Amino acid sequence: MSGLRCFSLSPPRGANTLMETSGFSDTQLQVREAISKICSKYPDEYWAAHDESGEYPLELHRDLSKDGWIGIALPEYLGGAGLGISEATMMLHTISESGAGMAGAQSIHANVYATQPVAKFATPEQRQRMLPNLINGTWRACFGVTEPNTGLETLKLRTQAIRSGDTYKISGQKIWISSAQVATKMILLARTTPLEEVQKPSEGLSLFFIDFDRQQPGLELKRIKKMGGRAIDANEVFFDNYTIPADSLIGKEGQGFKIVLHGMNAERCLLAGEALGLGYAALYRASNYAKERVVFGRPIGMNQGIQHPLADAYMHLEAAKLATYHAARLYDQSTTDETVTQAAVGVACNSAKYLAAEAAFTACERSVLSLGGMGYAQEYHVERYLRECFVPRIAPVSREMIMNYVGEKVLGLPRSY
Ligand SMILES: Cc1cc2nc3c(=O)[nH]c(=O)nc-3n(C[C@H](O)[C@H](O)[C@H](O)COP(=O)(O)OP(=O)(O)OC[C@H]3O[C@@H](n4cnc5c(N)ncnc54)[C@H](O)[C@@H]3O)c2cc1C
Repeated sequence: MSGLRCFSLSPPRGANTLMETSGFSDTQLQVREAISKICSKYPDEYWAAHDESGEYPLELHRDLSKDGWIGIALPEYLGGAGLGISEATMMLHTISESGAGMAGAQSIHANVYATQPVAKFATPEQRQRMLPNLINGTWRACFGVTEPNTGLETLKLRTQAIRSGDTYKISGQKIWISSAQVATKMILLARTTPLEEVQKPSEGLSLFFIDFDRQQPGLELKRIKKMGGRAIDANEVFFDNYTIPADSLIGKEGQGFKIVLHGMNAERCLLAGEALGLGYAALYRASNYAKERVVFGRPIGMNQGIQHPLADAYMHLEAAKLATYHAARLYDQSTTDETVTQAAVGVACNSAKYLAAEAAFTACERSVLSLGGMGYAQEYHVERYLRECFVPRIAPVSREMIMNYVGEKVLGLPRSY
């Protein structure tokens, strides 16, 4: 350990954190305990080194898949645990909070949520063919939606899948695809009917579960250098007549947008959990530091200028936590209870993602500032958290688009975009 580390900042390991855990179900707490145990094998130094090298955390993925965690919200007959998004959110929250941050959580993130629409809309034969190997860790999947020329206007996406006999030929470009360098499968949203030929832009999109085979002609990747979470690669993906079997199609052709929405609300909950984990981890470090660091003859945490911003950040995290687990509960309830509408689920999941991302940003920024110069040093880890906490503010849907959505759908204001 270098001379920079002059204070002991024991890392939060699940239960050893600031978060109030009362009110969670026994199952959620069991998930938290088991995941904390796995994550305790991966200390801060592991994550700092992987952030520096950009190397994928294969070992964590292996440990989580070995114990069946990737299938936490998938049916037991496929090798999953048959739990819900409430438990999956707790899992990703706990991974992030262990000090692994977004990088640790994102090592399995897409495999947990993007498999939800596959489990729901694929045929029984497809489910058996596609999901058990993802759950047991033999395969890894990436999720391909975003395109360079359409951004958040997902319905305008232009990557085409053109039917040709027993195959589809895919051409187009995706961007920001996480884990594509290590993935062997992709869950892909592409146009099967050109935008000009559909009545509504939400029509004519289809969802595919495809082999992601870099040795096959027509598929190229280019890694994007990025600000944080560098252990997880982000990529531009180029398809040029890349051929896939026709039975890669999930659900009905042209219905892909409706199908993928099923996974998107789940993803918002998971990402909210990841943001919360990061915020609590940062706050834990900042409050420990503020107790120990003495300047002007007293701990800096004795100054209200340090104490109050941290207390305020804690309360915002706790409020966002309630919104997040409320949204996850509604999501799970809506799978069996028709009185919980998809509109209610959508508003709750989007609101939770927004609130958690903002609370995490506040906690991370204030933690860096509370550590003063050491907040800026890699060795204290909070600068890494601050870099990572921008992701839930931007992706998978930005703060601005969530406000547009709530403004229009809840407040009934004119659509602004
Ligand atoms: C680290 C990382 C990992 C990612 N992983 C994946 C992945 O695995 N798979 C995948 O498909 N995608 C992934 N994404 C992409 C992510 O979902 C997009 O970056 C996100 O949806 C934003 O799209 P954009 O970058 O094209 O922004 P743009 O659409 O270009 O928007 C830029 C800015 O303009 C604002 N804006 C645009 N229109 C309006 C409007 N009408 N009103 C107000 N504000 C507006 C937006 O809010 C945003 O702030 C990832 C992104 C990041 C950063």
